[in-house]
Amino acid sequence: MKTFEMIIASTIITLGYALIPLSNFSQTAAHRAAGSVYPNMPEIAPIGVRIGKHFDVPESAKGPAIDPAKGYRIQELGKGLYMITDNAYQSMFLVYESGVVIVDAPPSLAQFMEKALAEVTDKPVTHIIYSHSHIDHIGGARQLGGHPKVIAHEETKRLLLRAKDPDRPVPSVVFKDKYKLKAGSQTLELSYRGNAHEPGNIFIYAPAQKTLMVVDVVFPGWMPWRRFALAQDIPGYFAQVEEINKLDWDILVSGHVARTGTHADVALQLEFMNDLRNATRQALKETRPGIGIDESDSGNPWVIFDNYIDRVVIQVVNTLTLKWSQKLAAYDVYIWDQAYAMEQSLRIDEE
Ligand SMILES: [Zn+2]
Repeated sequence: MKTFEMIIASTIITLGYALIPLSNFSQTAAHRAAGSVYPNMPEIAPIGVRIGKHFDVPESAKGPAIDPAKGYRIQELGKGLYMITDNAYQSMFLVYESGVVIVDAPPSLAQFMEKALAEVTDKPVTHIIYSHSHIDHIGGARQLGGHPKVIAHEETKRLLLRAKDPDRPVPSVVFKDKYKLKAGSQTLELSYRGNAHEPGNIFIYAPAQKTLMVVDVVFPGWMPWRRFALAQDIPGYFAQVEEINKLDWDILVSGHVARTGTHADVALQLEFMNDLRNATRQALKETRPGIGIDESDSGNPWVIFDNYIDRVVIQVVNTLTLKWSQKLAAYDVYIWDQAYAMEQSLRIDEE
């Protein structure tokens, strides 16, 4: 473990490297190169600073290995329901008497889909459900071929009509609140719980298998992807993680990471999010704008606020690191991003 001073020193050195091109400019009153780092700078390198080695991924975040010769693995979720994953993306398929229902077709998995299905069944794909409109989760839909019925939320249809992307065929069946898909003796219950990650992102529940799929919201074992996985509505995102925590299910398919999720995973993520929100509220309360900026910048409100927000976020990162740095994989990769997103949301959404 490096000492705090060593890390600060290496951070300064790294910043120095980054600033070499800037030093070629003449330093006038109109523009000066960066000064020293903030006091009490956290050990975790801020956004834009490269470090040699990030924290190891804890065992708790790892999943079953992928056979490198195959590039994917299939996980049986019970009673004809399966997850297919490359340990980075996840989609599901449900086999019924006369066909297969696929939920999501990430481009990274679409190449394996035909082979994966053939391991389990020779029945045709009759339906595709889109969890939401994003390319990285459904951009392999066209590649699956055939003429399956495409089911999604009406907001997803709106976004796809706008995108005009031939790789993401526009849904032929849409719904507003709930939709129950009966396929032979199998059932999937689709529901829309409002905006969090993006409008139209739905919950997909398989009651017989007690499996819930919600994509881009919970990241079992991991820090959420940066800025709460780019949630378009952060208070909505917090509410949705709470809702997933309360619902009755046994297996969570989250669309990402190396394994399925449990209630303990959701509770842990929620605890992290609540700690982050509390720490940010506290830092916003304790921090005053306009301290430590160059006097010649005092007429520039963007500078005053950027400096203020930086100091809020530094306090947040310092508050959380002791408890959380080893609990969620990639804490050090995204804690700054999460703290900046939280600070912004608390100022404009809630306060
Ligand atoms: Zn997404």
